Amino acid sequence: MLKALPRLLLGIAAILAVIALAFLVYPPALQSAYALLQQDNNPRPPVTIARGVHWVGASDVASYLIETEHGVILIDGGYASTAPQIIANIEALGFEMSDVRFILNTHAHFDHAAGLAALSAASGAPVYASAADAVQLRQGGANDFYLRNFWRYPPVEVERELIDGEQVTLGGVTLTAHLTPGHTKGCTSWTFPVTMHDGRVAQALIICSLSTLTFDLVDNPDYPEIAADFARTYDTLQSLPCEVFLGAHGNWFDIEGKRARIANGELDAFYDPNGCRAYLAQSRAEFEAALARQQN
Ligand SMILES: [Zn+2]
Repeated sequence: MLKALPRLLLGIAAILAVIALAFLVYPPALQSAYALLQQDNNPRPPVTIARGVHWVGASDVASYLIETEHGVILIDGGYASTAPQIIANIEALGFEMSDVRFILNTHAHFDHAAGLAALSAASGAPVYASAADAVQLRQGGANDFYLRNFWRYPPVEVERELIDGEQVTLGGVTLTAHLTPGHTKGCTSWTFPVTMHDGRVAQALIICSLSTLTFDLVDNPDYPEIAADFARTYDTLQSLPCEVFLGAHGNWFDIEGKRARIANGELDAFYDPNGCRAYLAQSRAEFEAALARQQN
């Protein structure tokens, strides 16, 4: 019995080593395990946010489909394992992948960009992104200032690099790119007009991300201007119209609550300017507190 114990421990160590090696050789395995733990990647049916604007993402990681007169626009690709869910949701809405004309991205992290290569391949649609995040997308998330090389994903080509304020137009719909760096160096938020179910036109905002994770906000050699970027990003977002409050993660704007309200017949549940204002104010206060802590 005593002799068998070290052998048992050795066996367990060997199994753990094999698992660790599997994650190193094949990072999507780590991302899938992470998604499972986070519960943000469970399949969900699409939700219609406004006329012709749909959530086609998973339980929490976002993906948006915008209908136009000349095909559809897709925003964000989730994890690698979210891509099949997004395709199923697009088809459930009655579209084909070949209807996708171009694909946009909020930011080049594994939970929003790992599915882009598969979605671009399935549709033949090009990806447009900010210049700074295009660097990350093309190298599959490598050398991120914070995630380093731990959360890589299939690289994806970026056909068009967008600058701050640039507009992309398709079939009568125009989206405006707003560079809101900090979470990534090229983090991009999007505004566009939508028509609510009651007929009124409202302004939608997709927030890239304001999460500071455990970033060094002070004396960060990999991103010296990070605190100034975040401050400017808050100024930008708080000056933009935000009547339909959206973002790269559904929990920021209570996707599950709004999904339930829509199911109860409250079709314009996503019209939420107060929720958007409150979220930005709260998030800014948290950022400023984190910065103050690090400066002391
Ligand atoms: Zn992120």
